[in-house]
Amino acid sequence: MTPKLSQGRHYLAIPGPSVIPDAVLQAMHRPAPNIYKGELVDLVEGLFPDLCKVGRTSHHVAIYIANGHGVWEAALANTLARGDKVLVLATGTFGHGWGDVAEGLGARPQVLDFGNRSDIDMSRVGEALKADVNHEIRAVLAVHVDTATSARNDIAALGRLIADLGHPALLMVDCIASLGCDRFEMDDWGVDVMVTGCQKGLMTPPGMGFVYFNDKAAAARDRANCVTPYWDWKRRVDPHVFYEYFFGTAPTHHLYGLRQALDMILTEGMQNVWHRHEVLANAIWRAIDIWSEGGSMEFNMADPAKRSHAVTSLRMTAPFATQLREWAEDQAGLTLGIGLGLAPSNSPQSHGFFRIGHMGHVNAQMIMSVIGTIDTGLKALNIPHGSGATEAAAQYIADQQSV
Ligand SMILES: *Cc1c(COP(=O)(O)O)cnc(C)c1O
Repeated sequence: MTPKLSQGRHYLAIPGPSVIPDAVLQAMHRPAPNIYKGELVDLVEGLFPDLCKVGRTSHHVAIYIANGHGVWEAALANTLARGDKVLVLATGTFGHGWGDVAEGLGARPQVLDFGNRSDIDMSRVGEALKADVNHEIRAVLAVHVDTATSARNDIAALGRLIADLGHPALLMVDCIASLGCDRFEMDDWGVDVMVTGCQKGLMTPPGMGFVYFNDKAAAARDRANCVTPYWDWKRRVDPHVFYEYFFGTAPTHHLYGLRQALDMILTEGMQNVWHRHEVLANAIWRAIDIWSEGGSMEFNMADPAKRSHAVTSLRMTAPFATQLREWAEDQAGLTLGIGLGLAPSNSPQSHGFFRIGHMGHVNAQMIMSVIGTIDTGLKALNIPHGSGATEAAAQYIADQQSV
């Protein structure tokens, strides 16, 4: 057997958890701090305004020791009463997943399914809201970027639609994959509740989640009857004593990591963070355009305007996608994302999907390495593909950054 070339620094290019910056790892490598006073307490107080800057809101944010599924539940538990109707806008696995959590809490989801290859169709949402003459729908749940399909939804248009119809439902948005990658404006876009996690665009190891909410959502909390003590956001944003921020022991080392990550994001600047993700996503897409000429690969989302800048979901003739992922990991030290929800798992078709994560701590040389490695794998495996993809991506970045 030929010796492998995978020894060296491994690259995890999956759509979350994302690459952890060395500076974040180093910030976490320290002795345990006092959790009652001093440095850690000051650090936590400083996180809230900076989390709000990243979420583009002047309202509230509650921190949970939880993953994305945890804050899905927290957001719903604080705003819904049992039996409430919620309108679920599904453009992939994650939209359906959030709707299932609502159902589990005793709400009544009405699911509008837009399939796996399309964004939210606003005309269908408008019809559903207009049909709701008694305003039984209490919340509209949408996913900004569905990580399974890589569809990016137009949340600004959704916010305008709800406002234009004068419908009182809360607009609740999952930005777990998109925050710190794709442009998102909580207040300007009319979003009442937004949830995110720390392990994607926020570049921190998995384990913390965030629920952002405005005053309209805070008012909904008063009639919510699903909420249990741990998930209640009231004291978490307005604690009498420090431990109430977390309803227990603070996630000490994660907080140091997050502090460092927020410093990196805010030093770069939100506009620059969004721009970097946009250019790097486009470089990958130039390469995919060329590979696709071979007939074995295509975008899951055909329209670039509806694609996320954080993740790209791809379709290949089965079993090429699995072969390519395995080659990249075993032979080159690059882990690509598996397909999610586009075919039954373990079916022959499930070997025809993969995803590239390009979120968070990624730069041009890393993205050129992902492209070059995929190009190499396609050649090593004799998978039909157009040639010149790496060249096209290089030319695209060069054109953007010419000095
Ligand atoms: C990753 C992700 C989730 C789930 O987050 P977990 O931390 O795995 O629970 C939910 N929604 C979206 C859009 C995601 O990308």
